[in-house]
Amino acid sequence: MKMLCQSSEELNELVMEAKACTKHGKVADYIPALAKSNQHDLSVAIHYPDGRCVSAGNVGKKFTLQSVSKVISLALVLMDWGPEYVFEHVGMEPTGDPFNSIIKLETIAPSKPLNPMINAGALVVTHMIKGKTIEERFQRLLAFVRELANENTIHYCEDVASSEFETAYLNRSLCYFLKQHNAINEDIEQLMDLYTKQCAIEMNCLDLARIGVVFAMDGVDLFTGKQVIPVDIARICKTFMVTCGMYNASGEFAIKIGIPAKSGVSGGIMGAVPGRYGIGIFGPALDEKGNSIAGIKLLELLSKNYKLSMF
Ligand code: GLN
Repeated sequence: MKMLCQSSEELNELVMEAKACTKHGKVADYIPALAKSNQHDLSVAIHYPDGRCVSAGNVGKKFTLQSVSKVISLALVLMDWGPEYVFEHVGMEPTGDPFNSIIKLETIAPSKPLNPMINAGALVVTHMIKGKTIEERFQRLLAFVRELANENTIHYCEDVASSEFETAYLNRSLCYFLKQHNAINEDIEQLMDLYTKQCAIEMNCLDLARIGVVFAMDGVDLFTGKQVIPVDIARICKTFMVTCGMYNASGEFAIKIGIPAKSGVSGGIMGAVPGRYGIGIFGPALDEKGNSIAGIKLLELLSKNYKLSMF
């Protein structure tokens, strides 16, 4: 069995097959700006550690990271504070609930969200990003994203950030709940400003695959030889991607595909195949759990064809 996809033609065949299911999905519209996405888009890039990249679909198309950013903010905060401090404030257990659910905060741990991949946990993580001002904290995160992607032009989409900022009533509720229980002690509007900019960081699937390969190679940027994420932190992030990265579909995803991956409601998925390569996918039509429907189909095909599962 082949372990590598050698050409864009080979990848394109899989994209065409996966694309058929975009018609069964729906683009996210609870963030109004995301409703403008094209339901039938599907693009993918695979980045190998030696710098080679194969891609298919409209790979230049940009999208916002949304929940994919949660892995990156977690890595930054773990580097800022160390795992011991961070895990006093956010847990390590999957919830089995939708990403924006509030229920376990109330019934299990009001001041400590169960994991950093659900919104409640990600908001606590963003709250922990070091810096004197919101602007400084955002610029630190953005600089880290640019370093991981090796792409200095990456920015955030103002339209998507303000669209989410204006409508994020549920995320504000989570924040106020957490503030009530002393898990957050900053101004909520400020935190929402930072969080919505974080989620609106914009790139294409080539950039996302490039970030994926850094995680896949234990935090080493093989182009520069630099350890951009410490090994233990890259390992923690990949473990969360396996246990909670695909929301409440993470168990099924681990069985069917078997790689660390993180999705976002814009339709992005970042995959990190340990020791082998990074995958960036953009397919905005979502299934009922909020994962890219064609993206998951494509990963199923890739996993079957190239034996991706780590289990
Ligand atoms: N910005 C989005 C939100 O907080 C991210 C959620 C997601 O991608 N699942 O609702």
